[in-house]
Amino acid sequence: MTQQKLKRVLVTGAAGFLGSHLSDALLAEGASVIGVDNLATGSLDNLAHLASEPRFEYEQADICRPFDFGDIDFVFNFASPASPPDYMRLGPETLRVGSDGTVNALELAKRYGAGFLHASTSECYGDPTVHPQPETYWGNVNPIGPRSVYDESKRFSEATIMAYHRYYGMRTGMVRIFNTYGPRLAPNDGRVISNLMMQALRGEPLTIYGEGLQTRSFCYVADLIRGIVALAKSGEPLPTNIGNPEEWTILDCAQTVLKVTGANVPIVFKPMPEDDPKQRKPDITKAKALLGWEPQVALREGLEKSLDYFRSQL
Ligand code: UDP
Repeated sequence: MTQQKLKRVLVTGAAGFLGSHLSDALLAEGASVIGVDNLATGSLDNLAHLASEPRFEYEQADICRPFDFGDIDFVFNFASPASPPDYMRLGPETLRVGSDGTVNALELAKRYGAGFLHASTSECYGDPTVHPQPETYWGNVNPIGPRSVYDESKRFSEATIMAYHRYYGMRTGMVRIFNTYGPRLAPNDGRVISNLMMQALRGEPLTIYGEGLQTRSFCYVADLIRGIVALAKSGEPLPTNIGNPEEWTILDCAQTVLKVTGANVPIVFKPMPEDDPKQRKPDITKAKALLGWEPQVALREGLEKSLDYFRSQL
């Protein structure tokens, strides 16, 4: 295992939920961080605590145009709309950031001989017919459905990164991220955890799409970021799942939100969105063996840790 240098690193999407937590973790490791964002879905609130951090520099830029803020030894490519309502609203922008944006980020890393880690997604598996999903599964993606702007953007990024690895010998890697939650998850981004937590705290009915029998596996953000930093250092070029394999129906997830918030509100059922995956759960055998990583925070505990944050967003 080659240990990658993390001294002066660039994070695209640094004002986002994951980008901001990743920037914090890299600063804690002693790195200097250049955070880039165009604020399409990110928020400067997520970086406010770094205002007087001398090792953090913020650059507002759209990575769909070539960019360069000086010498770096690693690029973390985390820029993209990521919640289903966001990427469906910003469809063409999502396709562009995963194509032009990824190429520009790769070209930058190539110029400086830097390592590269890309935020990929469990959406590469689409509505999976193999369960749980190992990295070797090629997926079941609708290339023209409403989610295709995100899924194909991320799959194009993966293909491009593998090409830069194979043709140019670049040190690249990619993490397939499964559903993640925690402080800084945008309260209005329409994801299930933010919707249910905010609804419960406002005393509104919890919205469940379909019958709530579809499953997801929720990872607390600190667990995810620990896995991502370990993966970046490992130098592993092939996709690696990082996620919590504890699988929940959306209905059971809603019951847990009611317990954690103490809310006494009804559940209302809404239509199931088109192409909504019926099941999702990471096979993390690879991450365990390669990185010695596994998640430590169960859903109930993670929701308790997130409660103050969601309250502060009321
Ligand atoms: N969902 C729900 N109620 C909501 C928001 C989402 O039942 O208010 C469902 C959604 O249909 C999906 C699951 O929760 O089956 C997870 O949705 P999310 O948008 O968080 O992310 P996804 O895993 O679909 O990308």
